[in-house]
Amino acid sequence: MLKHKDDEKASISLKRILGICLIFLFISGICVFAANKQVRNVKITLANGCQMNVVTSKTKVADILDEKHIILLPEEKVTPDENTTIGVDGEIVISEKSAQDEVSEMVSQNTETTNNAENNTDLNIDTISQAYSPITEKIEVKEEAIPFETVTKNVANGSSETQDKVLQEGKEGKKQVTYKVKYQNNTEIERKEISSVVLEEPVDKVVQVRAVTNRSSRSSSSSTKVSAPETTSASGISLGRYRITAYCGCALCCGKSTGRTASGTYARANHTIAAPGNFAFGTKLKINGIVYTVEDRGGAVKGKTIDVYFNSHSAALAFGTKYANVELIK
Ligand SMILES: [Zn+2]
Repeated sequence: MLKHKDDEKASISLKRILGICLIFLFISGICVFAANKQVRNVKITLANGCQMNVVTSKTKVADILDEKHIILLPEEKVTPDENTTIGVDGEIVISEKSAQDEVSEMVSQNTETTNNAENNTDLNIDTISQAYSPITEKIEVKEEAIPFETVTKNVANGSSETQDKVLQEGKEGKKQVTYKVKYQNNTEIERKEISSVVLEEPVDKVVQVRAVTNRSSRSSSSSTKVSAPETTSASGISLGRYRITAYCGCALCCGKSTGRTASGTYARANHTIAAPGNFAFGTKLKINGIVYTVEDRGGAVKGKTIDVYFNSHSAALAFGTKYANVELIK
């Protein structure tokens, strides 16, 4: 019985030792696990300059980026390298690759491929030469056209109905332009004008805008051909000296011109005159040997003034103002 008790005691203490050992193993296991799972505070700077602090249990740069769903673009690089293990309070910087990075990448790619596969060598030498291709400058001389300008001369005097008449056709000029052109791989990448010499001046196109002569005045002008002046040797009754002025059917002379006289006839040169109201329409007056017929009136035709009709404004202007003896022909 006593022996039995001792056996019992011994087995109990063995169980205890085993239990303690198991607990110890378990605790140390947790400690190792916890050491592995140690969390890190990592500062990540993105290519756009944004900074973020992340807490992670991962240690490799690639794994941290993957965990945070940060994907590197082809033109971006990460510092330190993706395979680096990051310490506690580490920092990851994503930045854009510089041109130099790309070239060195290409070179390393090329050396790899030349060592491994010769088939791709040509292509990679091309890529490399492209990256290293020198920029060549050329001077180019070209003849170019100078566009002409259009000059409009408006003589319509505000008339709403106008027509254009080309008085002078335009002609393009010529110039010799010298360019400095930069090429890379036979592709133009820049062009600067360094000088320009005019070889031929352009000729302006001159367009005259004139009033459209309306139908009545056109028919009047077609009917008012310069008729042979009516003359008479018969002397009439002398009315004395009159101021003789001149006018035509234009808007300047007549305001809004219809080509019709105040008596309703179409005015004719060498025939029509405007006289003051004391002369009835149809009255024939001899001035400087020509017999005119009073067919018109005028605001300025008063007293001893007679206005003689001409076919054109320039003819009326050329006549000007004269003084002459006026005879009344019966
Ligand atoms: Zn006129």
